[in-house]
Amino acid sequence: MTIVAPGGTIGIVGGGQLGRMLAGAATRLGLKVHIYSDTENPPAADCAAQTTIASYEDNEAIDAFAAGVDVVTYEFENLPVAPLDALARSGVRVAPTVDALRTAQDRLREKEFAESLGARVAPFARVDGPEEILDASRSFGAPTILKTRRFGYDGKGQARLPSPDDGLDAGDATRAWEAVGARPCILESLVDFVAEISVIGARAPSGEMAFYDPPRNEHADGILRRSVVPSGAAAATCDAAIDATRRLLTGLDYVGVVAVEFFVMADGGVILNEFAPRVHNSGHWTEDACVVGQFEQHIRAICGWPLGNPARLANAEMINLIGDDVWRWADLAADPSASLRLYGKSEARAGRKMGHVTRLSPATG
Ligand code: AMP
Repeated sequence: MTIVAPGGTIGIVGGGQLGRMLAGAATRLGLKVHIYSDTENPPAADCAAQTTIASYEDNEAIDAFAAGVDVVTYEFENLPVAPLDALARSGVRVAPTVDALRTAQDRLREKEFAESLGARVAPFARVDGPEEILDASRSFGAPTILKTRRFGYDGKGQARLPSPDDGLDAGDATRAWEAVGARPCILESLVDFVAEISVIGARAPSGEMAFYDPPRNEHADGILRRSVVPSGAAAATCDAAIDATRRLLTGLDYVGVVAVEFFVMADGGVILNEFAPRVHNSGHWTEDACVVGQFEQHIRAICGWPLGNPARLANAEMINLIGDDVWRWADLAADPSASLRLYGKSEARAGRKMGHVTRLSPATG
């Protein structure tokens, strides 16, 4: 595999805060970034040598982008795979592979793949209508969560349903089906977890892998609020999650950073919920607390460099600044315990991730 040396250019499809922080890490390694985004004023453009604003279906713009970059990566998963397939066909290396993206984009395919690797997942069924929701619910005999197979994020495209014993009826099933847009879905049995953790891992083209200490993640309204390390989970629990992530990375012949979310059960076992083929919000603390953080790790992996050391040197707590939280920036900037990141978004809409703050304390555990 050709190594992208300092001076080379990384193409990043998507221009959000993840692209912005990837661009920062690439720049620190002497690499340049070209952002391709379909929206005006993407946050990542502030940190990029070049930006293309064009539709993902604009073949001419995609060809011109491909001609000027040494490797292409993507920073969000809700994008059409066709342009990435075209890039790969034209001979540009795309990392992680388009196949990893395809798997992550479809919850059914993702769950089946995880199961095929021997990972434990919540009981699930493919459902394509209200009657199938009722049938699957009866077979689980538990409360459930309906999730669209594609294009769901931050809790969107989901509906919770009571168990048949608690009176689930055809009307509930129809309302839930319509609430998520009457689109192909999976129905999952709700699992009674005690905590949520994620594994941020990386794989190099050589097969070398590195893993960060898994954080515990807390959500509100379907959006990540807080990640904490150490997570408080038992070592065996973290090892099981890392082991499942290792199998996923190998199974996908993956290159780059991945994030895999797990439910921790009362007995310490883990259930794989989903994976994101990219750097992840629950890994933001690694930039401040680890020898090499997730953004640099991803750049190293896709450029064929040796992976960096993921060792954690401090305990960390990362809190997202969502919507109006961002107006606390001046107080946070004056807080000696806080490391602040702002994403350069002009409009603080409700539910929008505007920045984050990380606080470190001496390492334990
Ligand atoms: P997801 O989009 O799959 O990450 O789901 C969003 C959130 O809903 C998760 O972080 C969990 O808190 C919750 N959730 C999703 N699936 C389940 C499940 N099968 N059982 C219990 N809670 C779930």
